[in-house]
Amino acid sequence: MAKHEAKVVIIGSGPAGYTAAIYAARAMLDPVLIRGVQPGGQLTITTDVENYPGFAEAIQGPWLMEQMEKQAAHVGAAIVSDHVIGLDLSRRPFRLECDSGDVYLADVVILATGAQAKWLGLPSEQKFKGFGVSACATCDGFFYRGKDVIVVGGGNTAVEEALFLTNFAKSVTIVHRRDAFRAEKILQDRLFKNPKISVVWNVEVEEIGGGGSPPKVTHLKLRNVHTGAVTERAADGVFIAIGHAPATELVAGQLKLKPSGYVWTAPYSTATSVPGVFAAGDVADDVYRQAVTAAGMGCMAALETERFLAAHAEDRVAAE
Ligand code: NAP
Repeated sequence: MAKHEAKVVIIGSGPAGYTAAIYAARAMLDPVLIRGVQPGGQLTITTDVENYPGFAEAIQGPWLMEQMEKQAAHVGAAIVSDHVIGLDLSRRPFRLECDSGDVYLADVVILATGAQAKWLGLPSEQKFKGFGVSACATCDGFFYRGKDVIVVGGGNTAVEEALFLTNFAKSVTIVHRRDAFRAEKILQDRLFKNPKISVVWNVEVEEIGGGGSPPKVTHLKLRNVHTGAVTERAADGVFIAIGHAPATELVAGQLKLKPSGYVWTAPYSTATSVPGVFAAGDVADDVYRQAVTAAGMGCMAALETERFLAAHAEDRVAAE
């Protein structure tokens, strides 16, 4: 176990975390970035990225994150492969405790912990997790070569996952609880043109069915939200793509949250309810949730960190 001191510790390694690290390093703040359990964040479990500015052709999510990490390291950020398991924001310097046993004392914390996939919350979903139920097509799609799969959801993630799964599956059905998608129009166009994909509107998943040992999914029970009628649909696998929830476990009870559960930040700022703690990216953004907006917020957090540290250095001089 080692004890470290840092001016700024960044928690999280998605676009928000790495951008904050790049800016903070260039401001000579010697930032330490702790990567967490999913280094690179959500973009590492996606494939084509077509809307990150600067690339005319589609780029790969994992590649983009590698580049961000290299850039952050190149400008001098310390990148640590560890996971923060405890965070004390009750006094400065803030105290971070890592999985390895290492402890960091930081004048500023930038929280960029992102968001995690949401689950339906059905007991049958729990039963078949890892045995036909997944929340990551790029991780598990390969196992469904020549099979029939169902994707649940109606946002960008669901439509992208459905399109990706057509690379392997014989058929892909999207089941959505309404009669319209909220995914980008360009993605919807591609979906409707794909002969392998069909859509079942206005249904909710009532149960995921199957059996055997090891367990195997065979069908879904779908309930029509208007009529209540329940129908069965055969499937070898089901991908849950119903959105994401912010990763706020570390700050629960310490930072003010919005009613949506995301970290509250001051208007046009990444400042949280605790001075010296800034939040950037999906953990704080319940509106845009894009890679590029996360990167923008990471930049804001680093610039605000610089100002905060400068203001507090003056306070210290005044106090002496
Ligand atoms: P999202 O946009 O919040 O969509 C979630 C979808 O799941 C919605 O269609 C919602 O239905 C449905 N849903 C939510 N809870 C449900 C439940 N309990 N049962 C059944 N259906 C449920 O989430 P997302 O698609 O994961 O995207 C998250 C953010 O990341 C978005 O801002 C998105 O734009 C962004 N993103 C962008 C890209 C890209 O730019 N290429 C790719 C992936 C994600 P309703 O429509 O009825 O609410």
